[in-house]
Amino acid sequence: MEVHFDGKRALVTGAGKGIGRDTAKALVKCGAEVFVLSRTQEDLDSLVQEYPGIRPVQCDLGDPVATKAAVESVGPIDLLVNNAGINIPQAFLDVTLDTFDTVMNVNVRAVLQVSQIIAKGMVERGTGGSIVNVSSLASKISAKACTTYCASKGALDIMSKVMALELGPHKIRVNTVNPGIVMTNMMRKIGYDDPDKAGPFLSRIPLGKFVEVDDVVHAILYLLSDKAAMVNGASLPIDGGFLTS
Ligand code: NDP
Repeated sequence: MEVHFDGKRALVTGAGKGIGRDTAKALVKCGAEVFVLSRTQEDLDSLVQEYPGIRPVQCDLGDPVATKAAVESVGPIDLLVNNAGINIPQAFLDVTLDTFDTVMNVNVRAVLQVSQIIAKGMVERGTGGSIVNVSSLASKISAKACTTYCASKGALDIMSKVMALELGPHKIRVNTVNPGIVMTNMMRKIGYDDPDKAGPFLSRIPLGKFVEVDDVVHAILYLLSDKAAMVNGASLPIDGGFLTS
């Protein structure tokens, strides 16, 4: 299956590292004009060095004023990937209100804000579009010390379904991908490169291996593309079958 995005303009958030970075590169290879929004300028600089056509937008999605200005500056967008996300692990009894707000602001509020700006443009132009929100298996299962992260991804799943319901009549499809553990910076930071911590999770994956970044990128490309023309409001687990165990 080949997908082509020639003539399409795409925006990927959290594109400095990990899943977002490789999604942006894949979109360029498929012919899209790609805007990459992320927090760390050096990540954007190195991405532009690799792919000179990429259009960088530096922004902290935790700041709603900066987010509005940054997203409005990119102009019309046909394909949106809300990928930026953070996890600040804390045991339930230790979760602080500051942590709760910080995680929810990036993982949920920013998706609402970015999508509103982009989708309003899609509606005005009447050309439709496709939005993929990068959720997580953590929206479906609990994990220790992940109260805020699980809550944020659960909220993201159901918000995406409401978006699909309300934006569908404007030819805008909205879906989520829900990956299991992918060994990016995010997971290494919280110790999942330690076999003792990763082992119990790995043992529940029928395919016997962790998800690769490309597995997620391919699913995102599919959902963005016309090959998924009738897929709307779906949450696609990318978990090697973990949820069956
Ligand atoms: P990484 O930490 O590797 O990359 C996340 C990217 O998002 C970074 O470039 C980061 O920039 C950016 N970002 C984070 N916060 C902000 C912010 N406030 N404003 C702008 N950019 C921001 O994470 P992954 O690639 O692993 O994760 C990508 C998405 O996939 C997330 O939504 C995550 O929840 C989800 N996911 C990941 C899984 C995994 O196992 N890795 C599993 C399931 C879902 P900077 O580094 O500069 O802060």
